[in-house]
Amino acid sequence: MSHQCTHVLVRCMDFRLTREMNKWMEAQGYIGDCDLVSLAGAAKVIADDSEPGEMLLGQIALSAKLHHSHCVVLFHHSQCGAYAAEYTFADAVAEKAKQVADMKKAAEIIKAKNPSMNVKLFWANLRDDSGREIEFEEIL
Ligand SMILES: [Zn+2]
Repeated sequence: MSHQCTHVLVRCMDFRLTREMNKWMEAQGYIGDCDLVSLAGAAKVIADDSEPGEMLLGQIALSAKLHHSHCVVLFHHSQCGAYAAEYTFADAVAEKAKQVADMKKAAEIIKAKNPSMNVKLFWANLRDDSGREIEFEEIL
């Protein structure tokens, strides 16, 4: 007997995302219908072409193989420590621009390796330092 889900969601591990993100995932229909991978900086490691990026690509391929997922959701957020550790951004606009560029680069790499998969990009804007107020936005 097989079990299936439609999505594999890749998010940053940041604990501040969890409360509001779980509500968002429920509203999107992802709870119970997606594999979930949490990694600092989410798809940054794929865009960086690093060894953890290969691991993450392996998790995505495994989700497709085991659970027949056909859509990858890349989920990045403002105030991300994984980006702050490596970059100094002039402002929130510059931070978002870099992360969106990385998500788009990662999406191309994922699609090249998994031609049958779609990739969706989402951005979470933390409106405070605690993650109690988050705006979610699909990047098209
Ligand atoms: Zn983060």
